[in-house]
Amino acid sequence: MTKVRWEEMFKDEMEAAIARRPVCYLAYGLAEPHGLQNALGLDGLKAQALVELAAQTHGGVVAPMVWWHIHETPLGIAWLARQNAPQPFLTAIPPDIFLHQLLYQLRAVEAAGFRAAICVTGHYGGVEIDMRQLCELYSRSRPLRAVALADWEAIRYKDYHGDHAGMCETSQLAYLRPELVDLTRMPAQPFEGPVFASTDNARQASRSEGEGIVRSQVEYFGKLSSRLLKEAEGQPAGERISWDKTERIWQEFVMDKPHWIGSLEGDSGWPRIAERRKLFPLLDI
Ligand SMILES: [Zn+2]
Repeated sequence: MTKVRWEEMFKDEMEAAIARRPVCYLAYGLAEPHGLQNALGLDGLKAQALVELAAQTHGGVVAPMVWWHIHETPLGIAWLARQNAPQPFLTAIPPDIFLHQLLYQLRAVEAAGFRAAICVTGHYGGVEIDMRQLCELYSRSRPLRAVALADWEAIRYKDYHGDHAGMCETSQLAYLRPELVDLTRMPAQPFEGPVFASTDNARQASRSEGEGIVRSQVEYFGKLSSRLLKEAEGQPAGERISWDKTERIWQEFVMDKPHWIGSLEGDSGWPRIAERRKLFPLLDI
């Protein structure tokens, strides 16, 4: 197995990996309720294993994982209230802190000599759009080609478009980390409403469905990284920019804070997510 984790590489291995394919993958997730059958960290476990597979298949490096993510926004709280999960075991931080860190991650990725950054969040529902907006803003003034997406946006298999601890996500984790899925923990009887934020259709999850989903995602990441590297060809070399310069990008991004998904109010915010998604579409590949 090719070594792909940034933090595990020796200097010469890192230099060789960047010279081969200067793409950096960044994975995001958090611990939150994912049914009785999945490990709490499904989102991050899925994203991390997925990008490692992409880097092993196509080349590239995987940055140190971020395990703290946006939740408990007005939308997130309204959603959580319906999940039958009074103790959700969240590893949540506010949008500003998460997104500010993402900006400095892009700065570090550019300074390391990468030409493209692919930020994959296993936790979604709108947060991916705020991340994508920030990546777009960064790439507007910097040579690094950066993009963010929810892992489900990379699925090109049957009619799967992601879910929450249902058949899709449970199958993905069953393929990527089989030891962290245990369907026998699900309630014995079929159920209607959510059980610890999972749905009854998770019973149909399988490793083979997960394999189909994941393979299509890995293929997509190959195409996406090639596209970004091509776009980077005309760009000047990256550099280590100052904190002041980085903060100027942040200040511009913060001006749009009232429109961030993380700022949307309660259940009335859901239709706005579709509008924002249209405003910040994923590259059509
Ligand atoms: Zn999830």
